[in-house]
Amino acid sequence: MRDAVLGGLPEIREQLAGLYRHLHQHPELSLRETRTAALLARRLREAGYEEVTEQVGVTGVVGVLRNGEGPVVMLRADIDALPVEEQTGLPYASRVRATDQDGREVPVMHACGHDMHAACLVGAATLLARSRDRWRGTLLVVFQPAEELGVGARGMVDDGMFERFARPDIVLGQHVAPLPAGFVGYGTGPVMAAADSLDITLHGRGGHGSRPESTVDPVLMAAHLVTRLQGIVAREVPPAESAVVTVGRLQAGTKDNIIPDRAELGVNIRTYTPQTRELVRSAIERLARAESAASAAVAEPDLVWSGSLPALVSDPEATSTTIAAFTAHFGAARVQTMPQVNASEDVGVFGTALGVPTVFWFWGGLDTGPTLAALQEGRLDELPGNHSPFFAPVVEPTLTTGVEALTVAALTWLGSP
Ligand code: ZN
Ligand code: ZN
Repeated sequence: MRDAVLGGLPEIREQLAGLYRHLHQHPELSLRETRTAALLARRLREAGYEEVTEQVGVTGVVGVLRNGEGPVVMLRADIDALPVEEQTGLPYASRVRATDQDGREVPVMHACGHDMHAACLVGAATLLARSRDRWRGTLLVVFQPAEELGVGARGMVDDGMFERFARPDIVLGQHVAPLPAGFVGYGTGPVMAAADSLDITLHGRGGHGSRPESTVDPVLMAAHLVTRLQGIVAREVPPAESAVVTVGRLQAGTKDNIIPDRAELGVNIRTYTPQTRELVRSAIERLARAESAASAAVAEPDLVWSGSLPALVSDPEATSTTIAAFTAHFGAARVQTMPQVNASEDVGVFGTALGVPTVFWFWGGLDTGPTLAALQEGRLDELPGNHSPFFAPVVEPTLTTGVEALTVAALTWLGSP
């Protein structure tokens, strides 16, 4: 069945490569993916999808292909680009500039490979539409906006996509990664971290820099707190668990001889389990309050949590079923386990909203030979990864492998005729 469905790939490969290069050259920022969405919707309609809806959760696109009784399988690709100035030097490199949410002009680049995700999903959706006699069920094709802001999946769910279109029994997705092209990498259970952001404001009493005794210095308070926060991972999180606490923003004062009245910290945390997440969150709050008290702060600190994303869990049982199909198709040598990725992804929001499993895997996008050599010599970190201005997957075999992986995964869960 797999080979019969994938037999149509050579015929559409050039067209897909053209679509990929077009998307790469015309990236759009999160929640501004209007031309991208319109183009992808058109490609689905051309492939025979009669139910295609745009503007789901602002700029999302949903295509439904109903093909008799059977499981409902959702394939998801994200479509947004990043404010990065492309430096790949490719003939189809982006020169796009756009206005971001804060009104600043920024360069725009598909530096995370979401253009490749979208092109591969068009490919899989087309192949499955052309071979409807080979499977049964319903295919839900989802192009999701704003993954980079962590809000796109939530927006589509809140816009009623599952009530309006179909309720999937499983959610399948993939991410192109700095691995050798042609290879698939996977993990089971928590594969990408939960992310939480916290803004802390510490309250001192301002005054003249020459008279510290008349002030409460929030700069010293903040300095102690930054140091104390690093004790959470080192001393409170069990060694077998992983967690990251980063103070990415620290602001206080205007001038050397003025003690300011406040200091602000922007804190970002990454965790993999609900227990560790709760432990880290409450430890940060405890330390912020305790450092304030220790420094005789004039008020309790303000603690504002935002931008929270759950860990991405690739359902263990469903993942091993899918990976068995990958191994049968690609051969064991091209399907490898990989460690957890400390970045975050919002694809898990879909499955969590319905209580159904998500299966998520990575596939390689870097020149196969040199990347395999770098991997062997432990130099993989030297190669450009996602979000780098130099990151652009080689078109082949990345495109073919991505289309095949999505198609094989979908066929694993759809019914047979
Ligand atoms: Zn990204
Ligand atoms: Zn991404």
